[in-house]
Amino acid sequence: MALFKKKKKYIRISPNRTTTKPGNEPFVPDDMWAKCPSCKHTLYTKEIGVEKVCPNCGYNFRITAKERLSLTVDEQTFTPWDEEIVTKDPLNFPNYLEKIEQTQEATGLHEAVLTGVAQIKGLPVAIGVMDSHFIMGSMGTVVGEKITRLFEKAIEQKLPVVLFTASGGARMQEGILSLMQMAKISAAVKRHHNAGLFYLTVLTDPTTGGVTASFAMEGDLILAEPQALIGFAGRRVIEQTIKQELPEDFQKAEFLLEHGFVDQIVSRIELRDRIYDLVQMHTMKGWADYD
Ligand SMILES: [Zn+2]
Repeated sequence: MALFKKKKKYIRISPNRTTTKPGNEPFVPDDMWAKCPSCKHTLYTKEIGVEKVCPNCGYNFRITAKERLSLTVDEQTFTPWDEEIVTKDPLNFPNYLEKIEQTQEATGLHEAVLTGVAQIKGLPVAIGVMDSHFIMGSMGTVVGEKITRLFEKAIEQKLPVVLFTASGGARMQEGILSLMQMAKISAAVKRHHNAGLFYLTVLTDPTTGGVTASFAMEGDLILAEPQALIGFAGRRVIEQTIKQELPEDFQKAEFLLEHGFVDQIVSRIELRDRIYDLVQMHTMKGWADYD
């Protein structure tokens, strides 16, 4: 069928073209364009701004924990907690510690969550930020311990907790010890709650597995970023189990809002102001106790 054969396209490069000279090749930086994972539009990176929000569909791109902190807390107010806890390899999982080391180098993070104390428009908060770039933000023993201590220190210092979740769930390289973190953190959340303190969660893309099944959904108020994937088991696993097709927007923040699992969806552009309002509203009484 020669009629439908695609014509080969040849690009001729003149040997005299100055741009082919070594060191002077045409160059397009890798980070100049970004594709929105939600609406699939190709975007000029300047268009998505520092907040990294798609101007076409409003999707909030995945960001690092450090970017999240700089968008959320007042400059120079973040003091990290428990950076010295070291990841062990309890199951002797092949190459696990090497993987941790490589990821630490690549991300500049100690583990998949940053915790500490900071101020948001002058309000002191205990803050935790998970980072999906660190082994999918998976929850091992260090992540579990850091989040538990976040709540314990918040109780001691009478602070509200603001926690950004982003996780693929439990860390398989630590087996059942990862799953035990769910109960441990939940107990700390309960103690924080019993102390009359406020806990706000912000579910970001993606929040799944054991994190969704525990502390992500235990906030006094639960916010989510637009179109964030939030769920427990994967879509295919559920479809195979219940033998039914699931709706298109299943496990999206909007679907969860509609079904009462999320209190409000807030775009990242307004998130800092909204967090401030909610924390301020829920901590007015008893502020004098904090010093
Ligand atoms: Zn988009």
